[in-house]
Amino acid sequence: MEIILSKEAGFCFGVKRALELTLKTLANEKGHVYTMGPLIHNPQAVEDLKNKGVLVAESLDEIKSGVVVLRSHGVPPKLYQQILDTGLKIVDAVCPNVKLVQKLVAQLKQNGYTVVVVGEKNHPEVMSVPGIVEGETLVIENIEQAAGLPWVKRLGVVAQTTQTCEHFRKIISVLLHRTFELRTYHTICEAAEKRQQNSLDIAKQVNMMLVIGGKNSANTSRLAQVCAMSGCTTHHIETAAEIQSEWLKGIEKIGITAGASTPPWIIDEVMDKLTAISL
Ligand code: SF4
Repeated sequence: MEIILSKEAGFCFGVKRALELTLKTLANEKGHVYTMGPLIHNPQAVEDLKNKGVLVAESLDEIKSGVVVLRSHGVPPKLYQQILDTGLKIVDAVCPNVKLVQKLVAQLKQNGYTVVVVGEKNHPEVMSVPGIVEGETLVIENIEQAAGLPWVKRLGVVAQTTQTCEHFRKIISVLLHRTFELRTYHTICEAAEKRQQNSLDIAKQVNMMLVIGGKNSANTSRLAQVCAMSGCTTHHIETAAEIQSEWLKGIEKIGITAGASTPPWIIDEVMDKLTAISL
């Protein structure tokens, strides 16, 4: 069995930066180090951080002292203000690409645009965008919702960083008919886009794709979606333990890809397991 590993598999710069900042904080701070929600969307990596001493807080009430690390997906502006008000020390590990989306939305709102984010309604990154929690900034997940948008004079549109270009393009072409002035920012992250393209290229050459990463990870789920839509049999797994031997029966070529938040050791374990099976 031939195994092709995507050269784009695994950590992106935003995730690496968030992990490095958190571990540096842990090494330098005497008090507790908390992340506001899981730092990244990979349960195994978050568990590893927990074993090293990083605590995950689900609400601000859980944090009485210490340092708060802001997760890579960001936090809603109101929550950010609440954290500031507590006087707790803040370490900002929000990905610069996510911050750019937040900044562009704030600018569009200031300039009088009705703002739409193309993305997943309940994803933390989308929730961190100004006006989302309050319902002032709109979220569009699909074409039907885009078509149902009431006509507005000026419409500003951004994408959740992990959307596919294809989906974004389709939504934009529908929104074009819902406004007089349309201002669009291409905010899909280059790292996510490259992973999608590279995974798709591999999916076209193999009998089966294994996509490794958190089931709660938007960019990993998108990779699995892109591979499956190419017609290639695709399995989304979090760890090597999930590989089922019957999946591999009759498979000559297998492609491996991994989301931007998948740690290298998990990719290595999958590669080791597949190599052992193929020998
Ligand atoms: S996938 Fe892109 S937006 Fe998300 S953390 Fe990585 S670099 Fe940032």
